[in-house]
Amino acid sequence: MGTIHDFFTSQLLEWYKPTQRPLPWKSEKNPYYIWLSEIILQQTRVEQGRAYYEKFKKNYPTVQDLANAGEDQVLKNWQGLGYYSRARNLHQAAKYIVSDLGGKFPATHEDILKLKGVGEYTAAAIASFAYDLPFAVLDGNVFRVLSRFFGIKTPIDTGEGKKEFKKLAQKLLPPLEAARYNQAIMDFGATICMPKKPKCVSCPFRSECSAFINKNITFLPIKAKKTFKKERFFHYLRLNIGDFVYLHKRSEKDIWQHLYEFPLYEADRILDVETVKNKAFDGLLEGVNIVIKRQSKVYKQVLSHQKISAIFMEFELLDALVDRNNNWIQIKKERLKEYAFPKIIDLYLNDNSLYLNLF
Ligand code: SF4
Repeated sequence: MGTIHDFFTSQLLEWYKPTQRPLPWKSEKNPYYIWLSEIILQQTRVEQGRAYYEKFKKNYPTVQDLANAGEDQVLKNWQGLGYYSRARNLHQAAKYIVSDLGGKFPATHEDILKLKGVGEYTAAAIASFAYDLPFAVLDGNVFRVLSRFFGIKTPIDTGEGKKEFKKLAQKLLPPLEAARYNQAIMDFGATICMPKKPKCVSCPFRSECSAFINKNITFLPIKAKKTFKKERFFHYLRLNIGDFVYLHKRSEKDIWQHLYEFPLYEADRILDVETVKNKAFDGLLEGVNIVIKRQSKVYKQVLSHQKISAIFMEFELLDALVDRNNNWIQIKKERLKEYAFPKIIDLYLNDNSLYLNLF
């Protein structure tokens, strides 16, 4: 290990005080709880993730409890966190641990990596935090800190970049203090070397930091690709028939798989209610009396690769629609709160809870 590497590791460990950033999963040694926290935090801010971590621990205290739960219930508990494939993978992996591993959480890096939804980063985090195995974590925080301190300009989203950073991160990790070191570098990235306005003034690395010395902090780390966000326009049809409404469970290979929604009409822009009525019910309306009630404002939700605009149009049906392979289900309005919806529908339901008599 060269001097600059030694400097980095020793300064980081010296800087780290576990109590600086107390988090409920920090001193945890139970691999199941660590796994829960890591999956929840994959695409979620710490402040938001904390409540969900506590909720999952309370509702599913053991991996057996999680495996035995119904998928709809797990998704309902996950509601509001987004990226629902994480919850489905969590649930399936819990079932696998119970059925194939006798309920015992895997204890090697290789076996942890076999769990559905667990990638390199999460496997290294669980292996080091639960078992003190010498695997360096590499997440957004680590990429940022290393690229700035060592002045690395290789794009972090390329195969070459990932290889280079992985090698460096592993080289910096003190094998006997894996958990402490991994926690330290993530805390450092989250509280000192932040994406915007890093606290260089109070940084212990300042004298040796390449980005600070060369004044290129804001350019690092470098990404090769700009993420392109596809725009989509959803028209949700709230079809009231007496005390009932129609729902549909998303089963297509698309966003929000296995969540519920109102019958959907998608177009390349937001359309007016008459047009939607004519197009969306094409062929379904013969003999059905339908009254347009009202429409909502346009709601927006930004996902990692898509921007969704959704408008909710309400119709009163005087006769039941014939379901022609649409797989719609009819439920009582008051039971809406039992279903797991995407965030954009939840926003609409909350805005309209009084009017809709929901909660
Ligand atoms: S000096 Fe600034 S850019 Fe360099 S490691 Fe410290 S906080 Fe990050």
